[in-house]
Formats: sequence, C-alpha cells, structure tokens
Amino acid sequence: MKTRQCMSCGTQDAMQHFERRSLTVNYKNLSRWVHDIAGWECKVCGEIIFDNDTDSAERYSDAGDQLLEDCFQVMGSEMKRIRRKLHLTQKESVKLLSGAGHNAFSRYERGEIPPPQALFTLMRLLDRHPHLLAEIQAMNEGADLKRLLAARFPEHETVLAS
Ligand SMILES: [Zn+2]
Repeated sequence: MKTRQCMSCGTQDAMQHFERRSLTVNYKNLSRWVHDIAGWECKVCGEIIFDNDTDSAERYSDAGDQLLEDCFQVMGSEMKRIRRKLHLTQKESVKLLSGAGHNAFSRYERGEIPPPQALFTLMRLLDRHPHLLAEIQAMNEGADLKRLLAARFPEHETVLAS
C-alpha cells in the first residue's frame, strides 16, 4: 500500500492513497455525492489531499460551488415567490421583516447572497401562515413594547412616535 507522511499532522506513513472514492460536498444539511475521487487520506488526522494528476480537486470544488449556487437560486426564488404572495414590495419587506440594507432583498432574490437563516425561516412561516403578517405589522408599531416599558418603568412616560 502506498503511504506517505501527512503534511498536516506530520505523522510518518499516515497518509494512504485511495482511488474511485465517493465524497460529499455539503451546504447546511444538504449533500451531493462526487464520485471517482483519487487522493490521499491521513489515518490519524483525517486530512484529505486530492491527486494532482487527476481532475478530482477540480470536480470536487466545482460540485461544492454548484451546490451553493443552486441553493442560493432556490432560496432566492422562494423569497421572491413568498414576498409577492404577501403583496409586499422589496422595500416594504426590508422595513417590515429584515431591517437590513435596502438592497438586501433584491440580492437575496437574485441568489447573490443567501438570506439570513432567521429571515428565510420567517418567510417560510409566512408562506404557510400569511395572516401572521398583520401581527408583525402590529408588533413593528411598538404598542406591545410600549406596554412593557410602562409596566417596568412607570416613572417614565413612553409614547409611540407618530
Ligand atoms: Zn494527518
């Protein structure tokens, strides 16, 4: 068996050569297989180095990029579909739901960047329960916070900005 020293942990003869291995690329809880990979694996620290004289590294890296791109696209389409279903403009969505930069929704929807997990979760919940949008609107107006402030700090009067 071909072995060599591990460049990562330094252990002598710890790296063993492999061929035709299937490895996964991952994003969040999603995986895709990449087959027919050749390289070296360290039995001590788990380090993997792809063979230079095969296309293993390139195919593995491409598959990872593709998975990421596909996920961003699908999440972007979902964000757009749900926003339209809720009859919100991108600007209204930012104000109501994310509070982030004004271009954020357009970048999420184009799949340029992934939406923050909490926002994507909120959108999917609103997709299933669109009537909750009215409650979010009411929360944003701040009446519930005003009540909490009045209860905890009765010596200060707090009013809602109009
Ligand atoms: Zn090692």
